[in-house]
Amino acid sequence: MLDERFTRSLHVEALRRSSLHAATDPAVLFQTSTIGALLDGAYEGDVSFGELALQGDLGLGTLNALDGEMVAVDGRFWRADVDGGLEEIDPRERTPFAVVVPFAAQRVRELERTETEAEVFAALDRERPAGEGASAIRIDGTFGSITARSVPRQRPPYRPLAEVVADQHVFTLSAVEGTIVGFRFPDHSDGVEVDGYHLHFADVGRTRGGHVLGFTCERGRVAVDPATDLHVELPPGVELEEHHLDADGIASLRRIEG
Ligand SMILES: [Zn+2]
Repeated sequence: MLDERFTRSLHVEALRRSSLHAATDPAVLFQTSTIGALLDGAYEGDVSFGELALQGDLGLGTLNALDGEMVAVDGRFWRADVDGGLEEIDPRERTPFAVVVPFAAQRVRELERTETEAEVFAALDRERPAGEGASAIRIDGTFGSITARSVPRQRPPYRPLAEVVADQHVFTLSAVEGTIVGFRFPDHSDGVEVDGYHLHFADVGRTRGGHVLGFTCERGRVAVDPATDLHVELPPGVELEEHHLDADGIASLRRIEG
């Protein structure tokens, strides 16, 4: 069973690739596979980026063989290579883990002075509905600094994510304009999702980006799209409830996601 605190705050539905149809509801998040399966080295998914684009226009994730970090903004899908260089992803490529939504801002707030990451998160927390629900997030702005990372493409037999992340490249972008996208999931997301804020970045020229480890925002606009539902597409061999995280797993995930 999934953690009741998680399923109470978000309606979770499992499905297979064969039953996908185009989605347009901004309250429904779509995800391929689970973070628990990714932690265990399941780096080959069955959903293509062409299919993913029918489920949402904003989001994040990775590519098969864990070939970098994926950022989706305005319906275009970008791969950040191990050094943070962006290139557009071929729609025929596939993903082992991605979360997307047909993003529609329900709440917007302007950021008019320099704010730390903690202050931006506090502003986001004020804009999202009270309680434990999930939200999609978009921050357009000028960032004093963004510390990001990406990971190198892997070869089978795949190592667990905790080992791969030891080979990650971390880079800092200074005084950079661009867009942070991502999600805030409830605590107790129980091996299905990353608890708390999970954010990826693409600069305005779509030349640099990655998984966000930290940032400061000089000015910008935060937009929040609350979610009621999470549809989880399960590749062959992955089940929704087989990757429960124990305390060690949760601690490991927090280290990996920064
Ligand atoms: Zn990430």
